[in-house]
Amino acid sequence: MSLNIAIDGPAGAGKSTIAKQVAKELNAIYVDTGAMYRAMAYFMLQNSVNKEDSEAISAKSKEADITIKYENGQQIVVLNGENVNGVIRTEEVGNMASVCAVNKDVRLKLVELQRALAAKEDVVMDGRDIGTYVLPDANVKVYLTASSACRAKRRFDELVAKGEKPDLAKIEADIIDRDHRDMTREFAPLKQAVDATLIDSSNMSIEEVKNAIIALTK
Ligand code: C5P
Repeated sequence: MSLNIAIDGPAGAGKSTIAKQVAKELNAIYVDTGAMYRAMAYFMLQNSVNKEDSEAISAKSKEADITIKYENGQQIVVLNGENVNGVIRTEEVGNMASVCAVNKDVRLKLVELQRALAAKEDVVMDGRDIGTYVLPDANVKVYLTASSACRAKRRFDELVAKGEKPDLAKIEADIIDRDHRDMTREFAPLKQAVDATLIDSSNMSIEEVKNAIIALTK
């Protein structure tokens, strides 16, 4: 059986940074499931689908062919034949992703792809429902979190580094809103799996978090 490591947690907890490093160290593939939800959200935004209309989201999701491939170790998300990595990292797409992620048809479609990957490769997979729903038998499960103020500040710094002029209070409000939607949705909500290890990264360095997770694999 392949090695499966599940890392779940709220927005901006550092999951992708940590998961990438853990994957590198373990010679596994990093699977960013949030990017798949973002690709779906991007498709909905491009097609002006009303975010309040869950039937329209369900229907449109059938037209979205989402796959992933790897180039030089980097995950590329392909939406209907097009690499969308460069357009899915905005706050608008992130917020729409959490709206689309409530939809069961969207989730079932993406979960199928995630499970297929984990069955054939050693993976470090990050998301919201990996330990609880996608890979309930994962070898290691981590719930990675940090305070909302700390997570907002990290996002703020990332955007500033990209040359943007973000509003810290708005980022924190959006994060709280997104967490609430992710935690209270009916199907596969964000929560700590009973057998997951809780890591609060508020006062930890990336290296410390990475080492704590590697230690769990031994
Ligand atoms: O992690 P990221 O911010 O890229 O995820 C975007 C959104 O996708 C999340 O807020 C969440 O609503 C959704 N998501 C999810 N389940 C996953 C991964 C992401 O619902 N496994």
